[in-house]
Amino acid sequence: METAQESLRSKNIRPSIQRVRILDYLKTRKNHPTVDTIYTDLFPQIPTLSRTTVYNTLEMLKENGLVISLDFGDGSLHYDADTSPHIHFECEKCKHIYDVFVAPDDIKKKLPAGFSLSRTQLYAFGTCAKCDKNAK
Ligand SMILES: [Zn+2]
Ligand SMILES: [Zn+2]
Repeated sequence: METAQESLRSKNIRPSIQRVRILDYLKTRKNHPTVDTIYTDLFPQIPTLSRTTVYNTLEMLKENGLVISLDFGDGSLHYDADTSPHIHFECEKCKHIYDVFVAPDDIKKKLPAGFSLSRTQLYAFGTCAKCDKNAK
């Protein structure tokens, strides 16, 4: 996987400390965080950071195709630096968001002739194995 620095350089974005840290956070944690989570985790290391900077940086990275945003309907956008085709499964009990790597072949097959698919955004909801076990 590309480092945050390399990804920023590939899009001609100046790799400022804040940009590198935010993108690196997303690439390494893979926890689909919200602006608030990123801000809370990074603020102790970057005292000059603000929520607005986190939000603006994420939106800029999104416009450049380096991250995607996800809306699980909980009022905050979640961000993901994995832009490869995958769907997201949210556990309704622990709220953990799991990556599920399925190719969108079935969607392609259902599209009318002449349509081409560039990306998909699917949300699945249910109970993860951990929570299912705890419930029994
Ligand atoms: Zn769970
Ligand atoms: Zn994901």
